[in-house]
Amino acid sequence: MTTGILALQGDFREHAEMLASIGQASVEVRRPEQLDALDSLIIPGGESTTIARLILRYGFTEPLRAFCASGRAVWGTCAGAILLAKRVDDLDRPGIETMDMAVARNAFGRQVDSFEASIELAGLAGGPFRAIFIRAPIIESVGPEVDALGRLEDGTIVAARQGNLLATAFHPELGGDSRLHEFFLTIGAGELPTAAASAR
Ligand code: GLN
Repeated sequence: MTTGILALQGDFREHAEMLASIGQASVEVRRPEQLDALDSLIIPGGESTTIARLILRYGFTEPLRAFCASGRAVWGTCAGAILLAKRVDDLDRPGIETMDMAVARNAFGRQVDSFEASIELAGLAGGPFRAIFIRAPIIESVGPEVDALGRLEDGTIVAARQGNLLATAFHPELGGDSRLHEFFLTIGAGELPTAAASAR
């Protein structure tokens, strides 16, 4: 099983380290042709406008859309979640636009550039996940095919899943808890129910 991490910009190395810590090798993806050999793909946090610009420049747009449509597991974290969303508030060029959800960038404003919160994630055993938010987006709304997997105390959605596609507004590669990476690897292996209906 080969997991790729889109390595155009952002914290792809931290994802690679987290995967290595659970015995999963990964490859840094910088050319669209590399996608063919992958079973799953992580799109990391970083700056979504920059990653979107590089996606366009290196001809990744259609290959990434095709990858998502192929049923292989894709996980967008923070900026990566922004790029997966069909509707984004304030992104000046197209991303991958595949998950049926609306995302607002930098939704916590300047006062809370960065914070941590304990999130109950549907389907994740072992108690709440200590999530690190860095200039994070929020998931404002999700379509009927998308399950909200995790929310802040006020109900704001910060983790969602649409079949093979996973999105988290926070940075699961930081903080030393590998459970979400383990969860992601099982999506590709088809061990989970296709819709986390229990999350509703
Ligand atoms: N604020 C960034 C953006 O909108 C995302 C931040 C992150 O990935 N940590 O692209």
